[in-house]
Amino acid sequence: MEQHRTEINTLGEFGLIEHLTKDFGLRQPSSLRGIGDDAAVIDNGDHLTVVSTDLLVEGIHFDLMYFPLKHLGYKAIVVNLSDIYAMNAHPKQVTVSIAISSRFSVEALEELYDGIKLACDQYGVDLVGGDTTSSLKGLIISVTAIGQGEKGKLAYRSGAKPGDLLCVTGDLGGAYLGLQILEREKQVYLSTPGIQPDLEEQKYLVERILKPEARKDMIELFEKNRLVPTAMIDVSDGVSSDLMHICKASGVGAIIEEAGVPIHEEAKMMALKFQMDPLTAALNGGEDYELLFTIDPKDIEKVRLLPDLYIMGEITEASEGVKMHSTGGKIHDLVAQGWKHF
Ligand code: ADP
Ligand code: MG
Repeated sequence: MEQHRTEINTLGEFGLIEHLTKDFGLRQPSSLRGIGDDAAVIDNGDHLTVVSTDLLVEGIHFDLMYFPLKHLGYKAIVVNLSDIYAMNAHPKQVTVSIAISSRFSVEALEELYDGIKLACDQYGVDLVGGDTTSSLKGLIISVTAIGQGEKGKLAYRSGAKPGDLLCVTGDLGGAYLGLQILEREKQVYLSTPGIQPDLEEQKYLVERILKPEARKDMIELFEKNRLVPTAMIDVSDGVSSDLMHICKASGVGAIIEEAGVPIHEEAKMMALKFQMDPLTAALNGGEDYELLFTIDPKDIEKVRLLPDLYIMGEITEASEGVKMHSTGGKIHDLVAQGWKHF
């Protein structure tokens, strides 16, 4: 019998994960949450353990032409810690696995590990293991982060309720625009080798992509103010896509106020230079690693005075869909574009 062949791109990333894992239930009583959140959650009696893994592939997730290895090491750790913070938990350990081709020297790998070390020091986590193997071509890095959370204080994607306020930390779209700048400079360099790009003027945006930070500070502020978000996710694929995950997992809709979307001045200017709507960059650009979360409206006083935090909209009934209220007064559907790797 002829075997049917289905192309991966007919399912998309999330469709594929769902398809492949649909028959895996959780059989261990300690497996509290499995696939479907920023991290898995394991019951350890007096506390919860949270675990998250990411895989970074050269040519897909990073381009070594403009991504210094030290930054890459730093970022590989930070993006994993971000998933632990997105559960309202604290990362404690990481493991790092690499596949390397003979193209890489010991000195090059030392640079990568300098970045890994810097992130471990910065965030107070321990490197406790990993694996090293060869690859035919290119560099592959996989990081697993292990964290600890308190019972009753984790923030899942599934806890948002109609009437909750939708909040975000930091500002959005900067990393995406930083990436556009680096891609542009790469093209200039390829057509005129020898020209050294001057990125000093775009330092903020370039740093957003090359040296992102995870919002440890925000999780600590939540704790200090006794705030537990009702739902939370980190912004890795872009707010419109990440908000969709919260809405789907919580069975709710949402409305974003355009005026409430935080966009850095430099991001606004750069978007216009690239002839792009700054709002599109903010909502569909990814990799900002800010926290997108919802709170019970009775907690509004706890967030109103927190620095670097923006109230961007409200959670609605599922039947109302996921919408955007523009500054012009119109209401549109929010379309998740996200980043497609396939
Ligand atoms: P994030 O963007 O927060 O890192 P992902 O979008 O990568 O999360 O993954 C979504 C969910 O699917 C997570 O719970 C993750 O653990 C799970 N997942 C992703 N790929 C696989 C896989 N190949 N097998 C099992 N679970 C997976
Ligand atoms: Mg995440």
